[in-house]
Amino acid sequence: MNLKKLVEFTKNKLLHDEAKRYLQCIVKTEMPSGLKKYLELELFPRIQVKVLKGISLRTAQQWLHKEGFKYTAHKKALYFDGHEREDSQLPLIPGEPRLVLVAHDEMTAQAHDGVMMSWVWQGEQPLKKKGAGRGLHQSDFICSTVGWLKEASKTLEYGKNYDGFWNGELFLKEDFAPAFEKAHGPGYQALVMVDNSQGHSAYSEDALVVSRMNMNTGGKQPNMQNGWYIKDSVQVPQEMNLPPSHATHPGQPKGMKQILLERGLYWTGLVMQCKKKKDGSGGKCKSDATSCCAKRILELQPDFKEQKSLVQEVIEECGHICIFLPKFHCELNFIEFFWGAVKKYLREHCDYTFKTLQENMLMALASVSLQTIWKWEHRMDCWVAAYDVGLGAKEAQKKVRESSSKKYTSHRRVPETLAAQFN
Ligand SMILES: [Zn+2]
Repeated sequence: MNLKKLVEFTKNKLLHDEAKRYLQCIVKTEMPSGLKKYLELELFPRIQVKVLKGISLRTAQQWLHKEGFKYTAHKKALYFDGHEREDSQLPLIPGEPRLVLVAHDEMTAQAHDGVMMSWVWQGEQPLKKKGAGRGLHQSDFICSTVGWLKEASKTLEYGKNYDGFWNGELFLKEDFAPAFEKAHGPGYQALVMVDNSQGHSAYSEDALVVSRMNMNTGGKQPNMQNGWYIKDSVQVPQEMNLPPSHATHPGQPKGMKQILLERGLYWTGLVMQCKKKKDGSGGKCKSDATSCCAKRILELQPDFKEQKSLVQEVIEECGHICIFLPKFHCELNFIEFFWGAVKKYLREHCDYTFKTLQENMLMALASVSLQTIWKWEHRMDCWVAAYDVGLGAKEAQKKVRESSSKKYTSHRRVPETLAAQFN
């Protein structure tokens, strides 16, 4: 390892391209786990690469492969993290916790959500209750290892006296972490996959979020935590509120203009955000624009880019990892299939009363076997592998069909032919 470079790098003295080259060198010398941590925590924030979903250990391994490294299997199959078996040997670094893939999602079910079709006698009309009826909001986790995590299951009634959906971050802390730890014992770390839904992308009250800010100081905008910026290779902390002694706006939240002024990034005539003008010209920021408006400039600042969502903060506070699934790819979220099975059970056992829905919910959740969950997860692996080799949606689907129909003796052991796709 080039120590001189490392010093320069950590002091932010390397230019973007040089930092990139340095990254390649690191890829060649560091092990996947170290690489993963390094990329997520050190490099990306510094070279201002936004990492929405983090990097899986497998991605790190794949990069190593692409850089010419081989993970030499002495067994007939590669083992993937997660599914507990006595004979499993995981390719993990000693001292590193075992990573367990966990899918989390929420869904709703209604009392009147019964079967859509039924056999009726000539001339009779099937009666169907009107409206959705009272409903349940369900939040669940499924683990690669144990399947449905019963103790972390959360049910809430919604409808008349319940205003909207709960804010799911707190229960993550209160229910998920203890339940996960109880089900796995020490030495396991959850890799929680969540989708990009609104609830999951919510930020804490004092988060650095540009869209909550005004252009000018004061007015209705949140008190945000301290930010920071780089000045002469030194990281400078920045208060997001004016001092209490300020003449006109004591203690008030600074607007974008003030924040940018202090960072030396404001100029006269800079607009707050790109908008459509009255004459129809203009519009949203161009995708590659970096300084078109105050909003874009600030969004690209490293401290704002580093801001984690509340779900991510909470999961990481508990010592686990959170990744976000790419948008519009529900085939990658195998909990969707789980919901499908749960809803099917509820429909088939529906008598259009809320009481029955409540009674059935737990039974529906428990009705899905671990083997079935593994099958879905295996299918997700196939999708990832197909996308990894650059296939488009259609070809990927074909590939997944082929791969999913192949027989495999246990989920833990992925056939060599399939494993080759991961390399
Ligand atoms: Zn803009």
